[in-house]
Amino acid sequence: MTLISNSLAVVDIATTLHPNTNLRQHERTGPLVIDRGDGIRVYDDRGKEYIEGLAGLWSVAVGFSEKRLADAAYKQMLKLPYYHTFSSKANEPSIRLAEKLIEMTPSNLTRVFYTSSGSEANDTIVKMVWYMNNALGRPQKKKFLARTKGYHGITIASGSLTGLPGNHRDFDLPAIPVRHLTCPHFYRFGMEGEDEAAFTARLLAELEAVIAEEDADTIAAFIGEPLMSAGGVLPPPAGYWEGVERICRANDILLVSDEVICGFGRLGTPFGCQKYGFTPDIMTLSKQITSSYMPLAAVVFSEAIYDAIADNSEKIGNFGHGFTASGHPVATAVALENLAIIEENDLMGNAVRLEAQFQAGLKSFADHPLVGEARGAGLIGALELVSDKNTRKPFEKIGRAGALASGIGHDEGLIFRAIGDQLALCPPLIVTSSDISEIITRLGRTLDRLPAAIAAEGLV
Ligand code: PMP
Repeated sequence: MTLISNSLAVVDIATTLHPNTNLRQHERTGPLVIDRGDGIRVYDDRGKEYIEGLAGLWSVAVGFSEKRLADAAYKQMLKLPYYHTFSSKANEPSIRLAEKLIEMTPSNLTRVFYTSSGSEANDTIVKMVWYMNNALGRPQKKKFLARTKGYHGITIASGSLTGLPGNHRDFDLPAIPVRHLTCPHFYRFGMEGEDEAAFTARLLAELEAVIAEEDADTIAAFIGEPLMSAGGVLPPPAGYWEGVERICRANDILLVSDEVICGFGRLGTPFGCQKYGFTPDIMTLSKQITSSYMPLAAVVFSEAIYDAIADNSEKIGNFGHGFTASGHPVATAVALENLAIIEENDLMGNAVRLEAQFQAGLKSFADHPLVGEARGAGLIGALELVSDKNTRKPFEKIGRAGALASGIGHDEGLIFRAIGDQLALCPPLIVTSSDISEIITRLGRTLDRLPAAIAAEGLV
């Protein structure tokens, strides 16, 4: 597919550095210019229709044409388009949203800090925790524990917490003290002869061993996504999170649930930690908080953390952290309206009602010769492509089969995300049962065409 005759594409190629893109390849093939949205669908600048099977970047809960969000933004822009929250300034939408988030999240979380992106929120968490431990007179308690294949963003601290080589390599990351533990994905990281329970026990023993080795007095926090998403949609094994929580509590290590994708009903529970039975001290929220119509993220955290930070700010005269857009009135007004839409239409209930159909649809491809594993929870899932189903052997040139599948998917009118050779799906929460049937049909057509494309490239 070449799009470079399109003048927008020519300008894009000449001007823009695209995130997460092979840039020289992009110069040859050009962008897919998305022009407009309608419900779960988007249309490119030639009018071709696609089902957005990844809700943009796992985020557009209410679909791509929710007028109420446009109206909420317009109304707020006319009244107060911008104000900040430095030096005790406040605005109504950001106050109301903080109240709402505290009401929605587990009861031990009582305070909110706003940023514009998930990365900034996770950087904020690192800095808040460091500041807190300095304030508490334990400056050595600074290390973070994270997991291989975890995704927490790409700024210096959040990118360090991320456990994906592609986000570290040649960026000189990690740049903060962090230990990455084994990824809790049984299919790939389970050992020969190990069942899932033994796998979980091994991961928990590893966590205890790392804490003993590093010394609990030097470890500030453990961060994880309830269900790892950008690493390939990896549901945790049973008992994993209960064990992690117990070990963190026993060692005075804060537990951070990065809910940027799982939050607001993606897994059928309001937050992912509720699905897997743990209670964090801190949560990272973003994406579905505004359905990504406006950039917004929030850190929601406990009173004990707040108290330590607040006391120190009085002692030294300031909490010297904050963004120009922290508590942006338009972003927070849009979030309030978006959360109202999610509630009024019971979109979290929709994820519960449609989970079985969606997951069964993905599982129906488990017998396909190229599919090693079909997995997921709620309205998020993935198919992992392998070159040998029996041995689970990945393709030698990782990412090429995924890229071919993604291209065929586009042709079939379905956008999903190829993470290496894992095909991730995460449709808008407004999907209906017939939408899911259509997604599975288009995915099936894509998989039908894939073996020939792989053979033509000689992939093994
Ligand atoms: N945490 C998680 C779990 C994420 O999935 C993401 C983004 N995909 C981030 C953090 C970073 O968010 P942002 O891209 O807004 O910086």
